[in-house]
Amino acid sequence: MPIINRISEFHDDITEWRRDIHAHPELQFDVNRTAALVAEKLKEFGVDEIVTGIGQTGVVGVIKGRKSQSGRTIGLRADMDALPIQEIVDRPYKSKTPGVMHACGHDGHTAMLLGAARYLAETRNFDGTAVVIFQPAEEGGGGGREMVKEGMMDRFGIDEVYGMHNAPGIPFGQFSIRPGPMMASADMFIIDIEGKGGHAARPQRVIDTTLVGAHIMTALQSVVSRNVDPVEAAVISVTTFKAGDAFNVVPQTAQLTGTARTLSPEVRDLLEIRMKEIVEHTAAAFGAKATLDYQRHYPVLSNHPEQAEFAGKVARMVSDKVDMNTPQVMGGEDFSFMLEARPGAFIYIGQGDTQYLHHPEYDFNDEIIPIGVSYWAKLVETAMPAD
Ligand SMILES: [Zn+2]
Ligand SMILES: [Zn+2]
Repeated sequence: MPIINRISEFHDDITEWRRDIHAHPELQFDVNRTAALVAEKLKEFGVDEIVTGIGQTGVVGVIKGRKSQSGRTIGLRADMDALPIQEIVDRPYKSKTPGVMHACGHDGHTAMLLGAARYLAETRNFDGTAVVIFQPAEEGGGGGREMVKEGMMDRFGIDEVYGMHNAPGIPFGQFSIRPGPMMASADMFIIDIEGKGGHAARPQRVIDTTLVGAHIMTALQSVVSRNVDPVEAAVISVTTFKAGDAFNVVPQTAQLTGTARTLSPEVRDLLEIRMKEIVEHTAAAFGAKATLDYQRHYPVLSNHPEQAEFAGKVARMVSDKVDMNTPQVMGGEDFSFMLEARPGAFIYIGQGDTQYLHHPEYDFNDEIIPIGVSYWAKLVETAMPAD
């Protein structure tokens, strides 16, 4: 594979950073050690400007090319946070924090973008500006949204933005991408039911919230099957149902929570409207009251067609395996907020037949480092050629 030679020379260093980050995982916005390490490395590489504390703990580095005639600025983004999972494999660099581990490979993403920053700051073989973005809280906290909200795109004059995620199950070294929607909107809902508690032996005197909850749960499954166009994608999963403490008491209240996913804004609106109707009217039919708190978290991750095409072209410079038609998935990604703010594209880099993401045995495959870093470098050098 046409890996950039200079980057291969950094392979051991980048692996060492990756494993150091792996051993010290941090959650959500509390990525203080990782962010400090990132800022320290960027300084060491001679990056022109380093700004910390964007989106609480996000870090941004600005690298100017040897020319600045194009006036263009390209953003490259990595995520820094880990997951509340207990790592179960005894590796030399196993997590030192009980119950927390890098099970999504963000340790690898951070290390690869650091590698790219080192190469770009050393060579500067481009005409324009590269901005490296290290975000906190990808796993549910919306760190990307916070960085965008604080005006990162305007502040650094970012014209286009690119993201990359490792992918177990995709062949080693293969890049996979598609134009348009690639990952789902990821929303959360909470349904609170209030009935009338009482003695379980006197059902005529109670309004049974467990029965109401069961009917709501069942009826919700009609939304995807009966309201959503069958050629569209949608998921509604009720994942918790909490009610009651005793075998002989009908509980006064019950609560259901879960997640709703779609690949289009229209279907997303439809789910929220139909869920609200079902929740309120089903409860009313039993004489109970129920409310739907539908919380919109991550929007659909939609690659801009021109930038997805460009990302594929760059990927082909680095790898002979590029899939431009990767299947859509119903997982969500915080990078979607950046793609709402600027044109860009998100790409998967295959890490071969390894344990899947969010599994307690998962580990980032260090062998993909030179491929991923070469992709970042080529992307900048090709988007903003110096000659
Ligand atoms: Zn994840
Ligand atoms: Zn991830």
